[in-house]
Amino acid sequence: MTTHREGENARAAIYTRISKDLALEGLGVARQLKDCRALAEKFGWTVVEEFEDNDISASGGKSRPDYDRLKALMEAGGVDVVVVYAADRLHRNSRELEDWIDLAARTGINIHSVTNGTIDLSTPDGKTIARVVTAFAAGEVAKTKSRILRKHLELAESGAWFGQKCYGYTADGKIIEEEAAVIKEMAARVLHGEGFNDIARDLSARGIPTARGANWRAATIQNILKAPRIAGLRVHRGKIVAKGQWEAIVSEETSAMLRAKLAPGRSEGKKRGGARKHLLTGLLVCHKCGTGMVKCINGKTKKPSYRCPRNAGAAACGGTTIVAAETEAWLADAAFQFLDERVIDEAETTGEWLEKIGALDARLEELAGDYGAGAISRNEWMAARAAVERQKAQYPVPIVRPRELTTGAMLRAAWTDLPTSAQRAVLDDVFVKVVVWPRRQVTGQKTFDPGRLEPVWRA
Ligand SMILES: [Zn+2]
Repeated sequence: MTTHREGENARAAIYTRISKDLALEGLGVARQLKDCRALAEKFGWTVVEEFEDNDISASGGKSRPDYDRLKALMEAGGVDVVVVYAADRLHRNSRELEDWIDLAARTGINIHSVTNGTIDLSTPDGKTIARVVTAFAAGEVAKTKSRILRKHLELAESGAWFGQKCYGYTADGKIIEEEAAVIKEMAARVLHGEGFNDIARDLSARGIPTARGANWRAATIQNILKAPRIAGLRVHRGKIVAKGQWEAIVSEETSAMLRAKLAPGRSEGKKRGGARKHLLTGLLVCHKCGTGMVKCINGKTKKPSYRCPRNAGAAACGGTTIVAAETEAWLADAAFQFLDERVIDEAETTGEWLEKIGALDARLEELAGDYGAGAISRNEWMAARAAVERQKAQYPVPIVRPRELTTGAMLRAAWTDLPTSAQRAVLDDVFVKVVVWPRRQVTGQKTFDPGRLEPVWRA
């Protein structure tokens, strides 16, 4: 929101903060002030007051007297715009940022920063950007994430009930006898080779309710039977990690047989609407028939692979296969590089802008030198200076975009922690599809050949 209040002659307040992180980078208060004043001057604003808090002081930065004074001035309408050095590090944590957002919303006053440009806290985008940079700066994202993950793992390893009602058990893990009987019946019938649809129709016909009281479907039965919890086993992130503290309905052997029967890759175990299991299913496309490839175990090499599904309909040819692990790794890496380059493109534009500003600053210094040495008169100096300042003012203050927060490097670091569905969302953002070409006829070539992959990039 650029309001009329930010035009020339607007009243600006400068706020600086001395903190350990800024001081370590040599950004003492003098440097911060100098840059803030320059920004105000560039926009033609009049600085009405300068505020300064010290976070390294004895109080440990708990109180911020000048911040409170600035707030009072903003609320009293004594200022039109606030200039700070670094909006992302101005706030020590997310709570302080929310305080700023409220203040900006209440008073309609924007906060301009020297390093981040304008973060418009009145728009949803601006708020999101500010929240993300603040959370990153405070390391809160990483801390919260690892704390939660650790807690979940601890609970799982102790065999604690996972805290939800599910078919066969109450919300606190007690067996519901009628439902347990149905689970035992379903297990026995499945292991005797009866089809899921037939069992579902029979249960529905007998008026047996599901957990939600709906009709039985094949997928409902599969989801109940493949869960290790019915054998009293605790699962964490897809792996069995402990014996649960609750009672089993079927034996561990029965559960193991059911899970083997329902394992992905078996046609009857195909999941619908669940979490994504295979990174590249449907993204890889057979060169011959154009069908989306599916994951399977290669009959010859016994390695997980993607192949054109021969039996998925008349159109699929079943003629193309490629090894899974190397293909997944290669395409992820290609995506990171693509995203990195996209960011570099933008950074270069910013770099050019900074260079021009730098050249003009050098010109200003030169003029001041000429005047100091008596080479030009005061009037000549003033006129030349105004001309250079006018040129400088043509360049806009760069604005932080959210895209810069998801560089390839950041994704690369977090990749293995991301769920498959999130990894796929990244790949879908980069690739329309990837055509898989046939193995090249080189004798003895068994290694992974990236030359077979032809990505169709998203523009
Ligand atoms: Zn095919």
